[in-house]
Amino acid sequence: MNNEPYEPLRYFALALDPIHVGTGGMRLGRVDMSIVREPGTNLPKIPGTSLAGVARTYAAMQEGGKFPYCAGQGQSQGTYKGHCGQPDCPICTTFGFSKGSEASFQGLAQFSDARLLFFPVHSLAGPVWVTCPEALKDPGITEAEPADEQVRVADGVKQGGRLNLGWLMFNVKSNEPLVLNLPQVSQEILNHAVLVSNKMFSHIANDNLEVRTSVSIDPQTGAAAEGALFTYEAIPRASVLYFDVIVSDPKFYKIGNQTPLQNNGGKQKVVETVEKGLTLFASLGVGGMNTRGMGRLRVLNFSAGGAQ
Ligand SMILES: [Zn+2]
Repeated sequence: MNNEPYEPLRYFALALDPIHVGTGGMRLGRVDMSIVREPGTNLPKIPGTSLAGVARTYAAMQEGGKFPYCAGQGQSQGTYKGHCGQPDCPICTTFGFSKGSEASFQGLAQFSDARLLFFPVHSLAGPVWVTCPEALKDPGITEAEPADEQVRVADGVKQGGRLNLGWLMFNVKSNEPLVLNLPQVSQEILNHAVLVSNKMFSHIANDNLEVRTSVSIDPQTGAAAEGALFTYEAIPRASVLYFDVIVSDPKFYKIGNQTPLQNNGGKQKVVETVEKGLTLFASLGVGGMNTRGMGRLRVLNFSAGGAQ
């Protein structure tokens, strides 16, 4: 905890299942349901809005029914009363609330998109985790960019001067082993890391996404709907991603005339609420199609004094 008006928290996460966070668009290119990508790099990502929405739901579940109306979108409808909007509600203050035209609050925790850090690929040397200088830059690691046809590899990657990543073949710079220091990420992954150019990272990730075919079930009959095979893409299991959560100090804000969480833990409560939500990513998942064995994401580090 610092004394600044806001505090940046960085989380690393390991995909325990393939993760599909869809664009909502159907039949784009070779798959029916494509995933969200970063403009520019074209790398798959998980939007921060998706992370925040799921974390909100799970954090509310962890409060054991104390804030039954604070998990959802907030617009009151029929028996659903909408967000409580109380200054001491950990869910509404952390993730924001909107009570129609009456009042709204942005939320003290702002989630960035989750970006790819290590992408798993099969090679003749076994599974390896591909990364690039651009992906490593934000986590604070500076590596020179190899040429497009070159790679640098960590000690655990057994190779004889050449290495295939999927169907692409690369020359290994064997005089410069890749040594990465990232305590949040397992040594198994770091020992099998491969550094490629920024451009090749995007190619390799897009060429090696999971693409699965599934059958649509007709909800009326429970049977497979006729002609309803569909394909969808997903970030593969064992990918490593990272995202940031910026936590603002509630003492600089007002809801009505009251400081949020003044009687309920202050800034520490915001961090705890975020992390209560994040812990359930590993069992309940993020993104779509969680009932098809998809979406579980294990957050690898929690801040001291947080949920774990
Ligand atoms: Zn609330």
